Amino acid sequence: MSGRGVDKLYMKRDRYRTIIIGAGVAGANIAYNLSQMGEDILVVSDGNIASSAAGAFVSPKIGKSSPLKSLTDRAFEFAREFYISTFHKYYHQTQMIRLPKDMADSDKFKIYREANSSKFRDITPKELREININSPYSGFIFDDGGVCDSDICDELLNGIKVVNLEVREIIRVDELWQVGEYLANNLILATGYRDNLFDMAYMGIGATYGCRGDFKSTLNIPISLHKNVSISKNFDGIIKIGATHKDESINLMIEKASHLIDGSKIELISTYCGNRAGSRDYFPLVGRVVDTQYMLDNYPNLKKGTKHPLKYIDNLFIINGLGARGFVLAPLMAKYLSDYMINNIELPKEINPDRLFFKWCRRLTP
Ligand SMILES: Cc1cc2nc3c(=O)[nH]c(=O)nc-3n(C[C@H](O)[C@H](O)[C@H](O)COP(=O)(O)OP(=O)(O)OC[C@H]3O[C@@H](n4cnc5c(N)ncnc54)[C@H](O)[C@@H]3O)c2cc1C
Repeated sequence: MSGRGVDKLYMKRDRYRTIIIGAGVAGANIAYNLSQMGEDILVVSDGNIASSAAGAFVSPKIGKSSPLKSLTDRAFEFAREFYISTFHKYYHQTQMIRLPKDMADSDKFKIYREANSSKFRDITPKELREININSPYSGFIFDDGGVCDSDICDELLNGIKVVNLEVREIIRVDELWQVGEYLANNLILATGYRDNLFDMAYMGIGATYGCRGDFKSTLNIPISLHKNVSISKNFDGIIKIGATHKDESINLMIEKASHLIDGSKIELISTYCGNRAGSRDYFPLVGRVVDTQYMLDNYPNLKKGTKHPLKYIDNLFIINGLGARGFVLAPLMAKYLSDYMINNIELPKEINPDRLFFKWCRRLTP
């Protein structure tokens, strides 16, 4: 489109530097970062937000040393600092207990302890009983865990324009993105498990269902804990319990929780459910979006494993694939993306979705 038609279009429509689709923890954090850097932002969301279902536990990852663990540890430290320094009203440091699922897992804890990067000590079944937690196995107790209030996303978006709209179509007009009646130079997809606005099959975004319940309780649980469910400290008579696994349901979650705490002393008062989004290789997806159609049309031998320079969709970015750790990963991932967009600072390779493109091409039938 060009000429007078475009002038009229611009006059009628609100124009921004960047539109972000999604107001979950990913969208809220990137919006916060970019607006702190002076960018003119619009956030568009239809309110179907997994982040508001989350228990929003912020805890260190346990496991063997691995690139994913290093990234998560870095993100955990960053998130903790960020929440304490900037959003302390919405973040509660609670300490965090990690418990083995079974005997085999308990053996693995001996290996995991070497890789724990946050300050911790062991906690025995006897000590656990004293704080109303049942476990036949010892676990780790970390000093630095915490829990966010679910309305932290609203607070991150405070002062930023947010529009309630389900985006069904995005149009490219004269080097601008048009979303509904809004125009922008840049578009960021922070859409969680819904990946239908562009062809992003190579990223392998998938959904895992989960539930959280808020329970009225007089049980004195002074420390939050994770096993196959997450149970929060008792805050003013409320305990949050959450889990996201395949086939999770509120009843299954309550049954699992009842092995850990006295199930007769918790009364369900509200339930929240949602789908969290993960990537093919469990690492976050932060960066630009490859123009899949262009690449396949122009380089058919990609399917045979040949590599070519990537062509991206202009001014389109993504922040997604935060898995079960959105509240841990989002602050650092948003910093990486805003530094990349504004200051041209290279993205860490392990979060850049480019890593998945050529592998995905090889799996296509030639
Ligand atoms: C039950 C449960 C418990 C969890 N517990 C924890 C926890 O304790 N700690 C933790 O760190 N993480 C937890 N998670 C994971 C965490 O919730 C996710 O990592 C996080 O929600 C990912 O955030 P997101 O912003 O990427 O996606 P979402 O929160 O799903 O947000 C996606 C956004 O995109 C918008 N959107 C999508 N498509 C469109 C469209 N076409 N038009 C308009 N808007 C659109 C939606 O409205 C929404 O605003 C839990 C998840 C669940 C389900």
